[in-house]
Amino acid sequence: MSQLKCKCGNVISDVSDSLPYKGEIIPDRAFYNFLDKVENFIETLIEATKSGKRIEWIRKHFSSLSYPEDLDDTQMLCDIHGNYYSKIKKDIYQCNKCNRLWIQQNNTETFISFVPESDGDEWSNVLLPPST
Ligand SMILES: [Zn+2]
Repeated sequence: MSQLKCKCGNVISDVSDSLPYKGEIIPDRAFYNFLDKVENFIETLIEATKSGKRIEWIRKHFSSLSYPEDLDDTQMLCDIHGNYYSKIKKDIYQCNKCNRLWIQQNNTETFISFVPESDGDEWSNVLLPPST
């Protein structure tokens, strides 16, 4: 999504990283499945490397023929992590004018809005990380 027009008339833009009004939601059931997959990728990569089958492991997990076979393990695991993570996450935006939340429906470009129950500032900036 590059732009979303809020019901209040404000335009929410997504054209850079680290936006203060954007977040991501991970469904609980998908999260634990995701952790299991990451654990399995790490275990099987270590086993494949020890047994001299690293290239076969890469070809099995990266079906694209153009995927480089000379990347280090960290980069490959980051690619697998990012690829799967992008499939399970849902984007969420908050309008900085009316505080309405917009939640992505699965991997579509459709967003559903939710309106805070009060007009106060308690609902503003809910997607900012806690201060440390
Ligand atoms: Zn709005």
